[in-house]
Amino acid sequence: MTHATDSTDFATLALPEALARNLDSLGYHTMTPVQAASLPPALSGRDVRGQGKTGSGKTAAFGLALLARLDVARFRVQTLVLCPTRELADQVAEEIRRLARQMHNVKVLTLCGGAPIGPQLHSLEHGAHIVVGTPGRVEQHLRKGSLSLEHLTMFVLDEADRMLDMGFEDALDAIIDDMPRTRQTLLFSATFDAAITPLADRLLTNPAIIEVESTH
Ligand code: ADP
Ligand code: MG
Repeated sequence: MTHATDSTDFATLALPEALARNLDSLGYHTMTPVQAASLPPALSGRDVRGQGKTGSGKTAAFGLALLARLDVARFRVQTLVLCPTRELADQVAEEIRRLARQMHNVKVLTLCGGAPIGPQLHSLEHGAHIVVGTPGRVEQHLRKGSLSLEHLTMFVLDEADRMLDMGFEDALDAIIDDMPRTRQTLLFSATFDAAITPLADRLLTNPAIIEVESTH
């Protein structure tokens, strides 16, 4: 049963029609707490620092926001999502494609290490709206000039805690230096300890801070 006034109802968000009508078919009937807290500020263009345990629905929290704010008519890399591993990047790209199923011609490209670079170069020549990748390989494409972040309007850093644990700090620094300063940034993590604070402070401007209690 759904209630039109329920704050966890996706209908309260005024999502683009093609995104909204797809949610039911995915079995997403109500927002998870991290989605209910982060989607309103993210959709309004605000930076977000979102914390929620594994399985709390963080992918759709940023996925719906980035798709709602995408200008599909502009075939440029507008969104970069960085994940700590190839497996996570593949999962995130799949979820974004599922969410975008009823939008027309949204191109999501994955750029991960451990995969041959040739096909990635070929795909980049054809272009994309959204790049999902791991820091090492994305940095490599920036250095080669095969990827440009000139038209980037949104940056998502997923699993920021693991990113630092895995030693991606230098690659992240290089990528961040290459991004336009005027952009929206969403930073998600399962945990937020002091180690992330300098990175979060550097990346985020007046962010909405979302902390969802563990429901064990
Ligand atoms: P996290 O990144 O926080 O670990 P995920 O984004 O991977 O979590 O989501 C965990 C699972 O919950 C996925 O299988 C996803 O399809 C599902 N899910 C996400 N949002 C919803 C929702 N609003 N309703 C039902 N299931 C959802
Ligand atoms: Mg996740």
